[in-house]
Amino acid sequence: LIQFAPINGRTRTKKKASINVVGCGFGDSSADCGGRHMTRSEYVCRLVCTAVLTAFGLAACLFARAAARRSCCWRCGSAQLFDMQEAVHIKRATCGRCGRPSPTCWCPSLPRVPVDIATKVIILQHPFEEHRKLQTARMLQLAAAPGRVEIWRGRHFASHKRRRELDSPGCAVLYPSSDSVLAESLPRGSVTTLVVLDGTWQQASGLHFHNDFLHKLPHIRVAAPNTPSAYVIRTQPDVGCLCTAEAAALAVDALEHRSDCLPAVLGPIEALCRHQLAWGAVPHADKRTKKRLEAEAAVLAAAAEEDNQTGAG
Ligand SMILES: [Zn+2]
Repeated sequence: LIQFAPINGRTRTKKKASINVVGCGFGDSSADCGGRHMTRSEYVCRLVCTAVLTAFGLAACLFARAAARRSCCWRCGSAQLFDMQEAVHIKRATCGRCGRPSPTCWCPSLPRVPVDIATKVIILQHPFEEHRKLQTARMLQLAAAPGRVEIWRGRHFASHKRRRELDSPGCAVLYPSSDSVLAESLPRGSVTTLVVLDGTWQQASGLHFHNDFLHKLPHIRVAAPNTPSAYVIRTQPDVGCLCTAEAAALAVDALEHRSDCLPAVLGPIEALCRHQLAWGAVPHADKRTKKRLEAEAAVLAAAAEEDNQTGAG
C-alpha cells in the first residue's frame, strides 16, 4: 500500500497494483508494449473490448451466412424471396459479345459475315459512355471485320500509349467543325484511319476541345441523310444528327465508296430500339422538331381559345 497525502483530514490509500505501470501489467518486460505501458485495469478493459467486438463480428458473419442460405422471408415465411433470388440470377445472365442481358441481346441482328472495311476506325469513348448500356459503338465493332474498329476509353488521349498512331498522314477525325470537308468529296483511300468521338454531343465536344492533337488532324463530316436516325430512343439535337455507329458507318461508306457498312449497324440499332420501345421507352424527336411541334401546338391552342371566346361573345 502507498500512503497518499491527507486530503481534508483523511488519509487515502490505494493498492499499488492499480498504478503499476511496469511492462504489460502482468510482467516486467516492456518489450511487447512498444513503450506504451498500461495499467492492469486498462489492459483488462482492452481485452474485454476486443473479445466483445470479435464476438459481435462473428455473430454478424454467421447471421449473414444464414440469411444468404434462407430461401424464404424472415418475417412472414413467404417463398417469394426465392423467386427474387432466381430473378436476380436470371437478370445477371448477359451476352458475352454485346454485354446486354440475354433477353435483350441484339447479336442476332448483326450481319452474318462482318463487313470487311479497309479503313481503321478508332473510337475515342468518353468514360460516361462506357457504362451506358445503350451505346452503339460496340455494334460497329462487331459488325466490322475483327480488328478494324478499336475503342479507346478516357478523357485525355495525349499520353495514350498508342497516341503516335494518330499522327499518320492518312488519319482524319470525324467532327463537323467549320473547316470540315465532306467525306464524299475525298478520293478513295485518302483516309486510312478515322477517329470518331463517342459520347453525348456535349461529351464529344469536350473530348475534341481537351485533346489538342485532334485539332491538327483533317476534319471530315458526312452529309445529312434523308431519313432520320434509327436510334430513336435518344434525343438528337437536329434532324440530320446520327448516333455514333450510324455516323461512323456512313463515313466509312462514303470514304470507301461502298454502301454495306451502314445497313450492317442499322440491324442491331433497330433491334435495340424495338426492345426498348416494347418495354415502355418512347421515341424521341430531335430537339428542333420537338420545338417546332411545341410551337405549332401552342398556336393551335391559342386559336382554339380565341374561337371559344368569339363563340361565347
Ligand atoms: Zn449479344
